[in-house]
Amino acid sequence: MQLWIEAIRGFIFPVGRPPRPWLRLEPPFCARCADPFARHAPGEFLCGNCAGRNWALSRVRAAYRAVGTVRETVLRFKYQREYHLRPWLGRWMRDGFRQYYEKETWDALVPIPLHPARRKERGFNQSAEIARWLGARVGLKVEEGLIRVKPTPPQARLRRTERLRNLRGALALGPGFDPRGRRLLLCDDVFTTGATADACARVLKKAGADEVAALTVARG
Ligand SMILES: [Zn+2]
Repeated sequence: MQLWIEAIRGFIFPVGRPPRPWLRLEPPFCARCADPFARHAPGEFLCGNCAGRNWALSRVRAAYRAVGTVRETVLRFKYQREYHLRPWLGRWMRDGFRQYYEKETWDALVPIPLHPARRKERGFNQSAEIARWLGARVGLKVEEGLIRVKPTPPQARLRRTERLRNLRGALALGPGFDPRGRRLLLCDDVFTTGATADACARVLKKAGADEVAALTVARG
């Protein structure tokens, strides 16, 4: 029921001023991918999808579910280039940061990269813009340490195996970026399957990062 009400709120929010989102990501959820679990689960647990999977990403966290106002705001920001929505997305990401990551020490925020062709078409990298808003307020550097060396079709249209194949060799370390011994927080707008975030984490871990976790505005 709550999900429906939130979905309807998303359609009707007034131009330029999204209302406060209602649907937070609440436990119980998977300790790794934060997939919400309908029934009560005691303690920390992994979902069926994560139990047999070799993740490079240590965990992902977000304050909200990707429905209603949050989803609509992300889509408008990203595809309709409504850049003025950035502070709302930043605040919602900060809610997740405060709730899950604030008590730990992080060396930098690393945005999920966009291929230069897509960045040009969109005018900005949404992940980097939200990360910058957050970084300036919580005192963390934003380092665009990853680059896309090969354009990939939008992941949303692909199946999981295709997504993984698609990502092979698509990401690399940016020139001069050294993740050795550092704890890095990947930033993105929405976490859905995590294929891209995990591929990013893999590149960073392989290059010596100590830990790579992810923070997003919302969990899909
Ligand atoms: Zn999981």
